[in-house]
Order: sequence, then structure tokens, then C-alpha cells
Amino acid sequence: MVVEMHAGLASDGGSKLKMLLTFVDALPNGNEEGIYYSIDLGGTNFRVLRVEVGAGFVIINQKVQQQPIPEELTKGTTEDLFNFVALALKDCLEGEDGQDGKRALGFTFSFPVRQISVSSGSLIRWTKGFSIGDTVGKDVAQCLNEALANCGLNVRVTALVNDTVGTLALGHYYDEDTVAAVIIGSGTNACYIERTDAIIKCQGLLTNSGGMVVNMEWGNFWSSHLPRTPYDILLDDETHNRNDQGFEKMISGMYLGEIARLVLHRMAQESDVFGDAADSLSNPFILSTPLLAAIREDDSPDLSKVRRILQEHLKIPDAPLKTRRLVVKVCDIVTRRAARLAAAGIVGILKKLGRDGSGAASSGRARGQPRRTVVAIEGGLYQGYPVFREYLDEALVEILGEEVAQNVTLRVTEDGSGIGAALLAAVHSSNR
Ligand code: ADP
Repeated sequence: MVVEMHAGLASDGGSKLKMLLTFVDALPNGNEEGIYYSIDLGGTNFRVLRVEVGAGFVIINQKVQQQPIPEELTKGTTEDLFNFVALALKDCLEGEDGQDGKRALGFTFSFPVRQISVSSGSLIRWTKGFSIGDTVGKDVAQCLNEALANCGLNVRVTALVNDTVGTLALGHYYDEDTVAAVIIGSGTNACYIERTDAIIKCQGLLTNSGGMVVNMEWGNFWSSHLPRTPYDILLDDETHNRNDQGFEKMISGMYLGEIARLVLHRMAQESDVFGDAADSLSNPFILSTPLLAAIREDDSPDLSKVRRILQEHLKIPDAPLKTRRLVVKVCDIVTRRAARLAAAGIVGILKKLGRDGSGAASSGRARGQPRRTVVAIEGGLYQGYPVFREYLDEALVEILGEEVAQNVTLRVTEDGSGIGAALLAAVHSSNR
């Protein structure tokens, strides 16, 4: 991971890790005051947030509106999509007292963007089922600003960010030792604060803080050192983005259930553990990750929940206890590998930052003076699946060693991607 991080920072295209510049060089620290808004587009849900901050480390008031994006808008025109988004914000602002001057908006846009400044960037390509041809290459912040103006709203995008950057911002708001953020939900990604002089591909980059948040796009990480099983290859073949997002396909919620399904399918083909009622195991994505989690977490002595899931979802009736145990074991192994790989990725970031305890010299500190390090983390898989969380936490301690691990905290930042974007809107509206 560290080798690839260096390569991605050295040149564009130098690694499968894109290591994208975010132009975020200042993070919230608790001194922000006022009312800010954010729009979060690109996750499972589209969300509009209103965040009132002040009085130090307090979020006074928070209002969230959440709704799915209508399917037809994901394949329509740029104008229709951004008008929909702007109207949702207008709804949220309904009944608000008018404020003097423009209001600042953080726009969490979780698609690959080539950032030009903290508040502008052009779409590289759509992902996650969106395909609106005329948006590619356009400045998405400008598209939203135009739609907001058309709706008669005096609101302007002051921070255009990726969801991980929002998570890092909220983590930093609560705790200034937060140096990185990781999301493990349907997909996975990470960002961290890099020194500008280490960003070789952008020489002469100057920031007030001497640092900048780098969006790693780590879901696309790949290395010949990663052991790939036949099931990983089968899974990759099934996806529309073959040969891409290799790390994500081993780790995130969109895929874990499917990896287990592929293993069980092979078992059904090569043995009679499932009798002759295992046809449904040949259906791709029939086993979702929440089901895999429910199987792994069934602690009843006769694995009755596993029996029910096999019956209802996989149409396998009457699997004997021995077979049910085997299914639990497969789900356990898939979960454990994912969690341990994610932990290894986090240690990669800590190593790059000189905070993994391996070289006191690189952190500029003498031995015996460890630095506290916080990594903000969120996402449905980490937050909703306790066994995954346990395995990840356990692996982190195992790799770092107990002494170093004592100084490393993973901190869950609920709704970080949205709230963090509003906080970044605050930081970047007042000082530039
Ligand atoms: P997104 O990443 O899509 O924006 P989330 O962070 O909420 O949204 O992650 C949702 C994903 O997390 C789901 O697709 C699912 O795979 C996984 N997930 C959610 N809840 C659970 C759970 N209880 N057990 C296992 N996986 C879960």
C-alpha cells in the first residue's frame, strides 16, 4: 500500500491508487459558527442537511432530509438532475429566516472528480449506475450553483468534496489528532492529510497549512502481493468494471455476500452437502452482505436463523446442522479476510504518515513519546456488522503491536460525510 501511495503521489497514472488532490488544506477545529448546509449525492441515499454550529465543539441543531434519487434522473440530463437536487435544498430552506448575504453549501459528490480548487471540479466519469453523458467533463459545483440560482436560492457551493473528506472533516472537528478517514459501506475509500512537499506530481503546491487532504480512491488499490482466490476472479468477471476496484471487491458490502455465494456454489457443485436443492446458489448476488452477517452472527445452539435464511433466501430446505455450521464458517472466513485487509490498508496509511511505530525518526520524535493518532471511520459494514468491526480492530492491534496500537483510535463519525461537508463549507467560506 505504501509503495503504491508513493507511486500515485509521484505522477498521474503512476499507480492504480489515484491519490487525488482535494485542495482541502484546512479542516474544521470547533471554532466554526453559523448555519451551513450540505448536499450528499453518491451514497445509497441522497441527503440534504442543515447544520447549526457554534459554542465550541457543539453541533447545536441538525436537520436531515433523505430520499432516493428517482431512477430516471440517473440517466436523464444534467439540468434535470441538478434541478432536482436544488429543489430538495429549497424544500429544506422553506420557512427559514432570511440571512444576509449568500449561504454556504458543502457538496458531497462521491464520484471521481478532477478537482481544480476546493469549490470546483470536473466529473471524470459517472459510477454507481449513473450515466448522464453531458455531465462528464463539466464542473459539477458550477452545475449545482446554476440550478440553485434558477431556483432563486442565494446559496453557493464553497466546498466540493468526496464523502471520505467529509468524514475526515467531522472527525477533525471533534478531535484534532484525526489524520485520516476510511469508509466501509457498499464501497470503500480512504483519505488522509499529506504534506504538500510529498505530493511530487504537483510541484510548487503551496498551502497555508503545508498539508492537503489526499483522496486515495483506495477501492482501486491492487498489488501483486494481494493473494487472489478463484472466487475473486469469478466475482470480477461478473462485474461491469472488470479489473477495477480490486481492493473494494475483497472488502466492501456490495461484494462480501457474493464471494460467500460463489464459495457455497462451488461446494454444491463438488459435493452433496446441500442435497439436490441448491439451484438458487447459481444466482449472482442472491446472498446479500447483511444476510451473510446474520448467518455469521447466529448464536443460537441449533443455528435456527441460518436454517431460516437458507430456506427463505436460498431455497435450501432442511440443511443439516453440520452443513449449517459449514455455511457459518464460509461467511466467517469471507468476513475475516475483508476486515483484516481493511486493517492492513489503515496501517499502510499510518506507515506512510510515520505513525505506525516502525520508525521513530520518520515521525521526528524520540522513542517513548508516541503520538496520538485518530482515524475517523464510517459506513454500513463497519457500523452495522459487529463481527467485522471486531476482526478489523483485532487485526490492527496484531499488525501494530499492542504498544503502538494503544495510541491509535478508530472513531466512528456518524453522518460524517454530510455534516463534515457543511463544516468544510464553513471553513472555506470565511477565509477565502
Ligand atoms: P453507502 O456506502 O451505500 O453510502 P452505507 O454506508 O450505509 O451506505 O453502507 C451500506 C452497505 O453496508 C450495504 O450495502 C450493506 O452491504 C452494508 N451493511 C449495512 N448494514 C449491514 C449489516 N447489518 N451487516 C452487514 N452489512 C451491512
